[in-house]
Amino acid sequence: MTTTDTKRLHGGIDLGGTKIEAALFDRDFKKLDTRRLDTPRGSYEDLLAAIDAQYAWLSVQAQDPALAVGIGLPGYFSKTSGLYHAANLPASGRPFRDDLTARLPHLVIGQDLKCFALSEARGGAGDGARHVFGLIMGTGLGGAYCVDGHLVDGLQGLVGEVGHLPIGAATARAHDLPQIACGCGRIACLETLVAGPGLERLARHLGLEATGTREIFALYAKADAQAQAVVDVWLDLCAQTLLTIQMSLDPDVIVLGGGLSNVDGVERLLEDRLSRVVLRGTVGPSIRRAKFGDASGVRGAAMLTQDLVIA
Ligand SMILES: [Zn+2]
Repeated sequence: MTTTDTKRLHGGIDLGGTKIEAALFDRDFKKLDTRRLDTPRGSYEDLLAAIDAQYAWLSVQAQDPALAVGIGLPGYFSKTSGLYHAANLPASGRPFRDDLTARLPHLVIGQDLKCFALSEARGGAGDGARHVFGLIMGTGLGGAYCVDGHLVDGLQGLVGEVGHLPIGAATARAHDLPQIACGCGRIACLETLVAGPGLERLARHLGLEATGTREIFALYAKADAQAQAVVDVWLDLCAQTLLTIQMSLDPDVIVLGGGLSNVDGVERLLEDRLSRVVLRGTVGPSIRRAKFGDASGVRGAAMLTQDLVIA
């Protein structure tokens, strides 16, 4: 590494459905400055202009017109058409990647799930472990995998998309679970009952009146019998998700992010439930809550400038 490289700053942009966060980091990924803009909901052109503005702001803050900037996005790019697909963004169905790179030549594009995993593997809750899986349990369910602090990409960046695997037949039958249509176009994906909205759906299915996941866990903590039954089924579904990750990738650590990772003690509940289903004579990975949490999105985006380009 040259002297110039070691002095380099890194820019990150986290594009979400409600805000676009830009942050400048030093070479050790310590945050120096940050700025948030509302995500334009109306037109594609407005969205591109807002990303342009964040990119320009980062370049000015860094006093470097050639600043390398990573951007983390939800959704994915079609392998066949190259078009972008994401809920809640006016870029869906557009050649978003081509338009971004044409306007912003120093931009590196990656999925938000991958930014989370990268940030938690490097200096985060998975720091020091060789094999780190970052799992986001929020409005959706999915993750990404790092080995030695680098993302594993695969043919089209699908490694870690566990939310769209089907719920196991034995679990579905044991709890008489409904088959819910998933946003991906199929039915009975794990995400439909494990992610935040999925847990709420599961509670309704089992007859629990609750306003959201927070209330479900508050009732659970008070030993409400119905809430305990709901969380019990949910933990079985989580264990299936975690076992799938273990059997396919065998990580040392699984780092949890997203809204459900904020539930008090959730990592211990998940470790315990996974331990009941692992193969005899094996142990489950260490399950930890994220160190940087939501801030891993923009931090990991900045790290994309040092890592693989995956989108
Ligand atoms: Zn699905």
